[in-house]
This record gives sequence, structure tokens and C-alpha cells, in this order.
Amino acid sequence: MEIFYLGTHQPNWLEETAEPLFVARQRLAERKTLPRALGPWALDSGGFNELRLHGRWRITAAQYAREVRRFMEIGNMNWAAPLDWMCEPLILKATGLTVAEHQWRTLRNFLELREIAPELPWIPVLQGWGMGDYYEHANEYERAGVNLLAEPIVGVGTVCRRQGTLSVSAVLGSFHDEGMRLHGFGYKRTGLKFDQRFLVSADSLAWSKSAFYAPRIPGHTHKSCSNCIEYAEEWRAETLDALDLPGPTMREVRERFERKPGPKGPALQVPRGRASARLAPAHVPPWREGPLGQLSLPGLPSLPSLPKARRRV
Ligand SMILES: [Zn+2]
Repeated sequence: MEIFYLGTHQPNWLEETAEPLFVARQRLAERKTLPRALGPWALDSGGFNELRLHGRWRITAAQYAREVRRFMEIGNMNWAAPLDWMCEPLILKATGLTVAEHQWRTLRNFLELREIAPELPWIPVLQGWGMGDYYEHANEYERAGVNLLAEPIVGVGTVCRRQGTLSVSAVLGSFHDEGMRLHGFGYKRTGLKFDQRFLVSADSLAWSKSAFYAPRIPGHTHKSCSNCIEYAEEWRAETLDALDLPGPTMREVRERFERKPGPKGPALQVPRGRASARLAPAHVPPWREGPLGQLSLPGLPSLPSLPKARRRV
């Protein structure tokens, strides 16, 4: 992984820290004056809340393109997510639409944005629910003339609650092996540990929830550190340190898989504190070594291979 964005609700952090930030458009759009970024950042379109609360996007591609053009004043924007349609059951219920329709609308919005404002750094986003959905969506992009292998970043959505599960890791791994440069949306520490090698970048707001339940940093007077830049920076540093630790053992991987990992799946304990606290030495699981199309763990779903035609260009 090359870059780990810290999610924040506070756009003014852009001028308070040089660490990479992931900022939602709603908060920026509300502002009359825009901050000037000290470090790199990426724009989150905020689709999960928009679709969950309203069942649709309340802005058009043209309106969003105008907003993002204005946000370019901030400087250092690495990329902007499109108005994508994620595929969690909760969101499908809110919109009343199918996975296929969400995928089509995600692609259509990306194509519209590229047409309206080709100078802005839009990224394509793959969405799906079943693992095969992601390959379908990649093929749709190809049919629409978008070469995902040539894109600087391809977002992978709807992994927030399933990251680090073998099936998601396998999808990410096979796209990665094809040569796609992937961004994983909404990562937590546990999932990052599993999927980091397949990702160019990821973002996380998990620090905020962890701060909400954790004791405040000594000397801080706010109720909790859940909006605290100092806590967030410390959490990010610890997370990156922990990623240097050995990967999970094969037994841990099997246990996670057999227990149908999900939101309540067993969590790998990432030690707090800098890399001084090391996990016991572990093997790199064999499935991480070979091509992901040849997973050999019992009970794993078989992976559709990507059409070779995608290698053209
Ligand atoms: Zn604090």
C-alpha cells in the first residue's frame, strides 16, 4: 500500500495536517471559503449516507462537477470519487433498486463526469455484492470503453463490512494481479492487515469510533477524542506500524473463514503502541504466495478469471 488516508468530518484539518486526508463533499460544499491543503487528500462523495437517507443522489453529475471544480482551489487533491451506488442490502433497500442497476448507475455517472469535466481527477469505482458482481462490473466498464488497467486508481466499494474476508481478499487479489491499482473504501485495521498488499491506497474513519470508546488523551478537555486530530494522527501512525507486523497465520485465516467472517467476525488484535509490540512470528499464508486464481483452501468459492481481452491496450 502506498497511501493511507485518514477519514475526517472536519475539512479544516486540510490546513492543519500534512497527512493524507479523505474528506466528504457534503462538509466541503457547505463552506463559503475553502481551506488550502497542506498535504495530499482525496474526495469522498459521501454516497453511503446520501443513499441510505434519501434513496437517491440529490445532485446531478453537472452540479457535482461544478462543486469539484471549485474544490480544486484547495490544492493537492489526488482524486475524486464519482457519485457511486454501493450495494449493501441496507442501501439496496433504501433505493429499491437491484445490484445491476446500482452498477450501471455508478458507471453512467463516471462516464458523465468524465465527459462534463475531463480535466478533473475522477476515478472509476467497482461495486457489487456477490463476488462475481465485481467481475461483471469490470466487464461493463470495458464494454463502455474504460480500460481499468490504464486508470491511475480504481476504487472498490461495498467492502466496508466484508474487508479481510477471504472472498473479498480474493477479488482484490485477482484484480491486483491483473495490474489494477486499487483503492479500498472504508477500511479498518483488521481488514487492512489482510488486504494491504492488494491495495495502492485505502481510507479509514475507524479511528473516530475507537476514540469514542477509548479514554481521552491525557490533558484533553473534550468529551471524547472522536473528532480529535491528535488522536487521529496517533491512530494512523500506530496502524501503519502494525502493518509491518507479520501477516496472520494460516490457522487464523482458516478460523476466520470457517466462522463466516462478517461484521461480528473475530478481530485480529492489533497491539496499541508503536511497532515495539510485535506479534509472535507467523508464516505468510501459502494462498498469499501463489496466483489467487489457484486458491487451495477447502470450501473456497472458485474464482472466475478475467477475460484475457482486458489485457489489450
Ligand atoms: Zn482529544
